[in-house]
Amino acid sequence: MLSKQFIKQIVRLEPPSTTHHECRYCGYSVEKDVDECPQCGSYEIAAYDLK
Ligand SMILES: [Zn+2]
Repeated sequence: MLSKQFIKQIVRLEPPSTTHHECRYCGYSVEKDVDECPQCGSYEIAAYDLK
Protein backbone atom coordinates (compact mmCIF):
# COMPACT_ATOMS: atom_id res chain seq x y z
CA MET A 1 0.00 0.00 0.00
CA LEU A 2 1.39 3.35 -1.05
CA SER A 3 1.14 6.04 1.58
CA LYS A 4 1.20 9.77 0.78
CA GLN A 5 4.50 10.00 2.60
CA PHE A 6 6.05 7.41 0.27
CA ILE A 7 4.89 9.32 -2.81
CA LYS A 8 6.41 12.55 -1.46
CA GLN A 9 9.76 10.78 -1.08
CA ILE A 10 9.69 9.69 -4.74
CA VAL A 11 8.97 13.25 -5.90
CA ARG A 12 11.83 14.58 -3.82
CA LEU A 13 14.25 12.15 -5.48
CA GLU A 14 13.39 13.41 -8.97
CA PRO A 15 16.36 15.35 -10.37
CA PRO A 16 15.46 19.03 -10.95
CA SER A 17 17.00 18.93 -14.41
CA THR A 18 13.96 19.79 -16.54
CA THR A 19 14.89 23.45 -16.76
CA HIS A 20 17.78 24.71 -18.88
CA HIS A 21 19.41 28.01 -17.95
CA GLU A 22 21.41 30.04 -20.42
CA CYS A 23 22.49 33.59 -21.16
CA ARG A 24 20.04 35.58 -23.28
CA TYR A 25 22.87 37.37 -25.05
CA CYS A 26 25.54 34.79 -25.85
CA GLY A 27 23.66 31.55 -25.20
CA TYR A 28 26.19 30.30 -22.66
CA SER A 29 24.73 27.51 -20.49
CA VAL A 30 24.90 28.19 -16.75
CA GLU A 31 23.94 26.39 -13.55
CA LYS A 32 20.44 27.00 -12.22
CA ASP A 33 21.64 29.13 -9.30
CA VAL A 34 23.88 31.37 -11.43
CA ASP A 35 22.50 34.84 -12.18
CA GLU A 36 25.50 36.30 -13.99
CA CYS A 37 26.86 34.92 -17.23
CA PRO A 38 30.54 33.92 -16.80
CA GLN A 39 31.04 34.34 -20.55
CA CYS A 40 29.82 37.90 -21.20
CA GLY A 41 28.90 39.22 -17.72
CA SER A 42 25.21 39.66 -18.52
CA TYR A 43 22.62 39.30 -15.77
CA GLU A 44 19.94 38.29 -18.26
CA ILE A 45 19.74 34.54 -17.65
CA ALA A 46 16.91 32.80 -19.45
CA ALA A 47 15.28 29.63 -18.15
CA TYR A 48 13.78 27.18 -20.60
CA ASP A 49 11.46 24.41 -19.50
CA LEU A 50 12.53 21.20 -21.23
CA LYS A 51 9.47 19.16 -20.29
ZN1 LIG B 1 26.46 35.61 -21.83
